[in-house]
Amino acid sequence: MKAPEKRVAELLKAARRILFITGAGISAESGIPTFRGSTAAFQHGLTEEGIPFEEALSRPSFQRYPELSWKYFFQLERSLRGKQPNRGHEAIAALEGRGRQVCVATQNIDGLHQQAGSSLVIELHGNLRRLVCTRCAQAENRVSFDALPALPRCPACGEILRPDIVLYEERLPEKALDLLAEEEAAGFDLVFSVGTTSFFNYVVEPVLAAARRDIPTVEINPEETPISESVAFRFPGRAGLVLEKLVGGAV
Ligand code: NAD
Ligand code: ZN
Repeated sequence: MKAPEKRVAELLKAARRILFITGAGISAESGIPTFRGSTAAFQHGLTEEGIPFEEALSRPSFQRYPELSWKYFFQLERSLRGKQPNRGHEAIAALEGRGRQVCVATQNIDGLHQQAGSSLVIELHGNLRRLVCTRCAQAENRVSFDALPALPRCPACGEILRPDIVLYEERLPEKALDLLAEEEAAGFDLVFSVGTTSFFNYVVEPVLAAARRDIPTVEINPEETPISESVAFRFPGRAGLVLEKLVGGAV
């Protein structure tokens, strides 16, 4: 093990409360494409219709052209179908216990952290397979979207259904933000950012806040991001490979 790896493995071993911020990159090794970066699902960030994916998956677009958004909800669901947690998700889950608390705040909508056994997962962007009605309280969890028509409707009231995810130009779920704030208030002694472009302030700030208070921070991402220069340790590798090594030396 090289010196920085050894140092982080020691920090992991000693830590009592750890925060992991994760993005699409942690699920890349499970075979789920990211939106941005070199393994991106959208070439040049555009859909087949030639519009930016952020627009197709935005609230105004869903309200105006729900069938277009649904086309991409179906595509997303197919990209998650049958995918299993990888050694990155597993390494994070393995850290729990032995007096250690692990909080995972993820932007992923794939449920793989929970499937790997992590018990405190804050889904900042919701979960794709949970369908909710845009009018009434109807909600259901779906294993697959296969049996659904092109524009799924609520069995109770007939209004359009949508996945319980945060669309672009929508606010984050308040419950998730409150929970993250509570966990941050309780304090962490080690903070990781794994597989995210660190595009959104709410995933950047917990890392920078820790760095400002001299709490060790770690970034795992093959590509540089806006936080790369601010973290104490940076591992430019694949999440599963790096986490397996770091955690292997700590549990
Ligand atoms: P992103 O797609 O914008 O960026 C992915 C990041 O992962 C990039 O920085 C890339 O360099 C990095 N990466 C790629 N392979 C990696 C690997 N093997 N190990 C470590 N890092 C790797 O993802 P984002 O910033 O998380 O946000 C985009 C939004 O898209 C998210 O909000 C999420 O809701 C959604 N999304 C979710 C999934 C999923 O649930 N698995 C997949 C794609 C997109
Ligand atoms: Zn309804």
